[in-house]
Amino acid sequence: MALRVGVIGGGQLARMMVPAAVELGLDIRVLAEGPHMSADIAATAEGDYHDADTVLAFARDVDVVTFDHEHVPQDVLRVLVDAGVAVHPGPDALAVAQDKITMRRRLSELGVPVPDWAAVQDAAELRRFLDDHGGRAVVKTPRGGYDGKGVRVVSDPADVEDWFLAVAEAAGDQALLVEELVPFTRELAQSVARRPSGEVVAWPLVETVQRDGVCAEVIAPAPDSAGRLADAAEDLAVRVAEALGVTGVLAVELFQTDDERILVNELAMRPHNTGHWTIDGATTSQFEQHLRAVLDLPLGATGAHAPAAVMINVLGGPADGDLAGRYPDALAAHPEAKFHFYGKAPRPGRKIGHVTVIGDDVDDVVYRARAAAAHFDD
Ligand code: ADP
Repeated sequence: MALRVGVIGGGQLARMMVPAAVELGLDIRVLAEGPHMSADIAATAEGDYHDADTVLAFARDVDVVTFDHEHVPQDVLRVLVDAGVAVHPGPDALAVAQDKITMRRRLSELGVPVPDWAAVQDAAELRRFLDDHGGRAVVKTPRGGYDGKGVRVVSDPADVEDWFLAVAEAAGDQALLVEELVPFTRELAQSVARRPSGEVVAWPLVETVQRDGVCAEVIAPAPDSAGRLADAAEDLAVRVAEALGVTGVLAVELFQTDDERILVNELAMRPHNTGHWTIDGATTSQFEQHLRAVLDLPLGATGAHAPAAVMINVLGGPADGDLAGRYPDALAAHPEAKFHFYGKAPRPGRKIGHVTVIGDDVDDVVYRARAAAAHFDD
């Protein structure tokens, strides 16, 4: 019988696991949030991932449960584990990815370099942090943020008055995360995969470009990173994966600062936007590797097919919503490009697909990938 993988969440990450599962001969099943999700093609169930009975019923028919996102509540994850379900990544690792304050605390305990940070519960505490950090800082809601939602650069506590109100209304020990505004020279990301029996592999370090808090472009490998920088990023990501017991893919978002130091911004315990280039650009894609890892199968080689790979996100899409109408021109103009769309309706700012080009010269590859993706702009 084929090995059965159950994925909770029907977004584009689950969708992109499907071709890899088909190639490996795996039986992939998705618990989707509702109809018309990106991963519809593999959806065998629909339901609320906050509901333990729904998730447990789905999990009983698979060999391992994994995720499209990190939002499944801890109590639901514990129900699965207590019922003997293999869950990868497990609840303890996921707890660190689910809450940005927990993440900062654990990374600091591990001695991993992170921006200066504090948990603040009111305006006075934030004012003190601002006074100590040159009057500007970045405030984040600890949970549920993505694509820069839940991230604000502030110079006055009034800039996050609404978030403090929510903290006060929730009572208990809720807080906001405040961090120094890091004067980074660029952003990088390091992905690794780890299987439960311990094997860990790393892909090349990549450079990422964000616009308005959203990943726009990824360049693999990160230009001028060979040697010390690449080694440091890989060592750091492997150390984090091992220390936190992460299983599956771990993506570590990094800031590179003037002095060539790297600081960890974020951890994602699943395939990540900064690793999409691996589908067309590496021997083993992050999606195939994630499936191998969560099934505790030997991991695949991570080398790149070409000296440069560039991935451009397609955000928003054509204002008229007619994505397919753009195909003839785009595909004709860029036969060298690989187009990926997620079955999502175009909406301003929404990630609806990506384009990857690989080649020998990074500037040429950047140019061609941008030109190919531009066919799907407004
Ligand atoms: P999300 O979880 O929504 O992706 P992140 O914490 O990754 O949010 O932040 C989104 C982007 O905001 C980052 O990629 C970076 O460009 C910027 N950013 C986040 N934290 C800081 C910081 N401490 N200093 C400077 N820029 C930051």
